[in-house]
Amino acid sequence: MNLSDAEPGLREWLAQGFHGSMHYMQRHGLKRARPAELVPGTVSVISARLDYLPRATAIGWQAVEWQRLRSAQQATVSIYARGRDYHKVMRSRLAALADRLALEVGPIGARVFTDSAPVLEVELAARSGVGWRGKHTLALQREGGSMFFLGEIFVDLALPASAPAAAHCGTCSACIDICPTQAIVAPYRLDARRCISYLTIEHEGPIPLALRPLLGNRIYGCDDCQLVCPWNKYARLSPLADFDARAPLDGATLLELWAWDEVDFLRHTEGSAIRRIGHGRWQRNLAVALGNALRTMPNQAMQQALQERLDSAGELLAEHIDWALRQRPH
Ligand code: SF4
Ligand code: SF4
Repeated sequence: MNLSDAEPGLREWLAQGFHGSMHYMQRHGLKRARPAELVPGTVSVISARLDYLPRATAIGWQAVEWQRLRSAQQATVSIYARGRDYHKVMRSRLAALADRLALEVGPIGARVFTDSAPVLEVELAARSGVGWRGKHTLALQREGGSMFFLGEIFVDLALPASAPAAAHCGTCSACIDICPTQAIVAPYRLDARRCISYLTIEHEGPIPLALRPLLGNRIYGCDDCQLVCPWNKYARLSPLADFDARAPLDGATLLELWAWDEVDFLRHTEGSAIRRIGHGRWQRNLAVALGNALRTMPNQAMQQALQERLDSAGELLAEHIDWALRQRPH
């Protein structure tokens, strides 16, 4: 498994600082493009995809999502995060697949990864034929769009290589044009520091002031570049109940979620990937979204709820609440 021709692009992306504060990306450096350095003995990588659209997703789901994004008082959580934490689901299924393989061929060295920083997942998916790398930098497929997770099994077994996926973005640039923060700075090049997914999930500090209004009501992740992608009319529903949307994370208002204290947050996000960002970042994101809602129309209940939290808030949250309160029209 040789990814050496992915190294120059990776090196340049890191040099331009597009990884933001995801320093682990830099730390793993070029090991990311060298599977055998990451897991000694690796000869082949099995790349797998797992569809995640909730089973109850209706035809025309993109229109439902656009409508939610236009409803300033609603909260929008990225679709993939509305059900059970995919890390656990994917990992256990990959481990089961590795066991099945060992049953067939005898003992093998195998290590599974999913959404793991040191692994160039999309690059591996493209080379193994799982999907090409779209201009938004995610993997996508003609028969399955892009609403899927990726995972890998690194094995010390020589497997026949599958054919790489051919790219079918063509002249389309819908994802680049729709991105609210213009984070896709060129085709196939993402400045993570501007990406709402990164800002609401990975980024720890204050959300940059210039970007706050552009977050709208997105409080965890962002799906816009996938919602607009023409290939997602072929996105498939997950066969698993694990990714069914859970009630409070699908259809809640900003105010309902703002009312959660830390105990509520931990209870409602049990087994969900959202728990990883902690109550602090959750509240920071909500404060920004509440400010954006206040800008669209005065709302006494929102102002009061923000004000009430001000005294007990730490420095970071208090600054975001202050900002939110200043968004009301005068
Ligand atoms: S996830 Fe959202 S912010 Fe990030 S690149 Fe896609 S559209 Fe832009
Ligand atoms: S929106 Fe267009 S350019 Fe972007 S990934 Fe989809 S097909 Fe490619």
